[in-house]
Amino acid sequence: MMKLSEITKVYGKGSLEVPVLHGVDLTIEDGEFVAIMGPSGSGKSTLMNIIGFLDYPTSGTFELNGEKVDSAKESALARLRNEHIGFVFQQFFMFPRDNAIKNVASPLIYAGVSKRERTERAKQMLVKVGLEDRMKHLPNQLSGGQKQRVAIARALVNNPTIILADEPTGALDSKTSAQIMKLFMQLNEEGKTVIIVTHEEEIAAYAKRIITIKDGLITDDRRVAP
Ligand code: ATP
Ligand code: MG
Repeated sequence: MMKLSEITKVYGKGSLEVPVLHGVDLTIEDGEFVAIMGPSGSGKSTLMNIIGFLDYPTSGTFELNGEKVDSAKESALARLRNEHIGFVFQQFFMFPRDNAIKNVASPLIYAGVSKRERTERAKQMLVKVGLEDRMKHLPNQLSGGQKQRVAIARALVNNPTIILADEPTGALDSKTSAQIMKLFMQLNEEGKTVIIVTHEEEIAAYAKRIITIKDGLITDDRRVAP
């Protein structure tokens, strides 16, 4: 379970201050499938980065599994990120000269996993996302949807409990988007907590809970009937 209380975020300093989050209270239980919606600039990515320990709040508290997170410590954030979070982005962010296996395996290098095991685990994840026939392909030899599957496999390779995806279908056509959302549904059914940001109602409809942010505050939070 994660519990955010009174989270604020202000970027910059002095006359360049940009206040973005204005006191967000949010509890997400294990195994939820949440979509975050809201206008451009409302603070969705900022909130996702804080949830995923990629950034720290200006004030407020964050508890993960009942433990208070010390967001002042980059080392504490890095450990939580590695242990709990798999992140997927709109723009895939792949190493262009590495094949799918190597891209998926890359987070394991930092975890100190042996090369043989890295390759083995990366292959398993690629099978899981339906890319068993594309393992040796380079990013520019893959379609957008296939690239996003590679990115999802990479997010899964550390066996995280929480998958965060910031506009994961933003660069995909609607048919491919539906396939990617079905993959997130499957991962959620297998027990992962899934949190996505999207602009599109049809994409949010795959989630079981839809949260709306406006001007840095949660203005709506509703559970969608199964
Ligand atoms: P979009 O739907 O366009 O992706 P968003 O809801 O994800 O928007 P954020 O990226 O969270 O919005 O940005 C919220 C506000 O914070 C914006 O006004 C943006 O300009 C500002 N902002 C984001 N990152 C920074 C930064 N590193 N420094 C200064 N301002 C920032
Ligand atoms: Mg954003």
